[in-house]
Amino acid sequence: MIIRTKDELKGFLCPSNNTGKTVGFVPTMGALHQGHLSLVQQALNENDLVVVSIFVNPTQFNNPEDLQRYPQNLEADVSLLKSLSPEVIVFAPAAKDLYQETISAKAYDFGSLTQFMEGQHRAGHFDGVATVVSLLFDAVNPDCAYFGEKDFQQLRVIQTLVQDQNLSISIVPCPIARNADGLALSSRNERLTEAQKKQASLLYRVLEQTQKSFAHQSLEQLRKSAKQAFSDQIDFDLEYFEIADAQTLTPAINIASGKKYRAFIAAHFHGVRLIDNLELN
Ligand code: AMP
Repeated sequence: MIIRTKDELKGFLCPSNNTGKTVGFVPTMGALHQGHLSLVQQALNENDLVVVSIFVNPTQFNNPEDLQRYPQNLEADVSLLKSLSPEVIVFAPAAKDLYQETISAKAYDFGSLTQFMEGQHRAGHFDGVATVVSLLFDAVNPDCAYFGEKDFQQLRVIQTLVQDQNLSISIVPCPIARNADGLALSSRNERLTEAQKKQASLLYRVLEQTQKSFAHQSLEQLRKSAKQAFSDQIDFDLEYFEIADAQTLTPAINIASGKKYRAFIAAHFHGVRLIDNLELN
């Protein structure tokens, strides 16, 4: 079932035969792959009804060319979702319906969560994400919403948004789905050949190496080795490598016991911007 407007969605979710049922929600920008489907499957396992939104949100793209080239194929997405369950409700609104008058992002303050990594390199990105997720939460009114750790900084932003606004939505973090070589699945990978995808798993190999060395090397050594692994590769343009506190997302200065740390990478490779991250302890 494809629903195109907020009114239609409310009309579908409100009738008495749906009241009292739990609603799981998976927001996506489409071009679905097994990573998205793992979130949808978890939502199906844990809820009575599942809504998957497919909406390429213009306000979270800091690069107009990236927005223009973002892969879109609603028909293929719907048939993938149907193969999981014919019951999935697809919500694919037009920007005008979702945003109403002005298609623009609100300004948020997430403190340290958006000061580094994606927040530092993609101006306005998280304002766009928080704006669209707020609008979608309003339209869907879910009990649970599922977000991938692939976009770990986004996950922390949404957890904070829900907390700050006192929303009664449970945010469910979902593990990163990878291919056999470790490359994190991503819609943007569609633009790479199979051979390039093999090469692109360098991001994961560097993260894995950082994880292995974390207990016995200094932060300085870890950062240096990771950067070195990219400086030898002419096809890659490393945007950042960072080791950060997994709660505050501030770059680690020293390792405090009892705290969790993660390594984060963004790199450009054959015109595709790749991101990945891994828990270190
Ligand atoms: P996107 O369509 O890229 O906006 O992603 C929609 C949701 O799917 C977000 O919560 C992403 O973090 C999640 N997601 C994307 N790729 C993966 C992946 N490889 N593994 C797990 N979750 C993912």
